[in-house]
Amino acid sequence: MSVRVVARIRPLLEKELDKDVIVTADRVEDAKPLTLVKIPSPKNGAEEFSFAFNSVYEQTTSQEELFTAEVAPHLKALFQGFDVTIFAYGVTGTGKTHTMRGGLRLADRGVIPRLLSNVFRRGKKIIKDTNGETTVAVALSYYEIYNDKVFDLLEPPEKRTATGLRLCEKDGKTLVVGLSERSCDDLKDFERLYIEANNNRVTAATKLNAHSSRSHAILRVKVTQTTGNMVKESTASAIDLAGSEDNRRTDNGKERLIESAAINKSLFVLSQCIDAISRGDKRIPYRESKMTRILSLGQNQGITIMILNLAPLRSYHLDTLSSLNVSSRAKRI
Ligand code: ADP
Ligand code: MG
Repeated sequence: MSVRVVARIRPLLEKELDKDVIVTADRVEDAKPLTLVKIPSPKNGAEEFSFAFNSVYEQTTSQEELFTAEVAPHLKALFQGFDVTIFAYGVTGTGKTHTMRGGLRLADRGVIPRLLSNVFRRGKKIIKDTNGETTVAVALSYYEIYNDKVFDLLEPPEKRTATGLRLCEKDGKTLVVGLSERSCDDLKDFERLYIEANNNRVTAATKLNAHSSRSHAILRVKVTQTTGNMVKESTASAIDLAGSEDNRRTDNGKERLIESAAINKSLFVLSQCIDAISRGDKRIPYRESKMTRILSLGQNQGITIMILNLAPLRSYHLDTLSSLNVSSRAKRI
């Protein structure tokens, strides 16, 4: 399993243009690529911390640039049978949803629509190149994990049970029992499903007086290639994680405390898994949260890309520092 941890700094929004910017991208001496994130110490403004990543993307990075550099290179491996997992991690308001879903304008489209578009294109090419001898089928599942419970986003919120969906183990893989799967032929198909599912997500959260930034949303794209009686199956997972901020600091209602504990635990386990994988450890603590268990993180021969989203503003200072600390491979120099 290979893992990359990259950081993306979002630009300032219109209303933030007069605000203090404290997070910057930098390089190691004369090295070409940007690999460092710099941020001042909250205690002593003159002191600066540096965190190292595989790559750092500046405020000006476009959706296309990020996709081309970090996701597109792995799609060949996906069609060779390897699983690809892409996470967006970070504080609420730093650009996770923008990075994964993005906007409606073509140029604003995020990783997910670009991934699907690329998968459909590759699928069609394979069918054409093999004169139809190989067929390629794409199926989607989309679910969220809220308070360590799994809910199907392809089903309306009324169908949810109090406990959510159960997990089970089969052939060494963790499965979500009863999770729906819809086959999808083209980008239009996908977009229809995706919009409907995201509406389900918002409706469910509103009912609970919660916010969708408090759950992890996981989209799984299953690619099945069939040639005669040979079947090759692989999965691309795209995950918009719950906000990594410490909710205890801003809101200490009872519900929020329960949420906060569940969010913090799963994000902590995720970072421990990524850490262990990148160190080459034999033991990956993936069983310790539902999210990492479902993804069998570190259990398969796959590729994992974690994108740490950052807002450059001083108002995010403490949460930004803690997300930099947690995003594991980011080492303080
Ligand atoms: P999160 O999902 O982490 O809470 P969002 O994706 O909702 O954050 O981003 C917060 C705001 O910043 C949104 O208005 C979004 O459109 C904007 N934004 C985030 N990243 C970018 C970017 N790279 N370019 C332009 N706007 C961005
Ligand atoms: Mg979001």
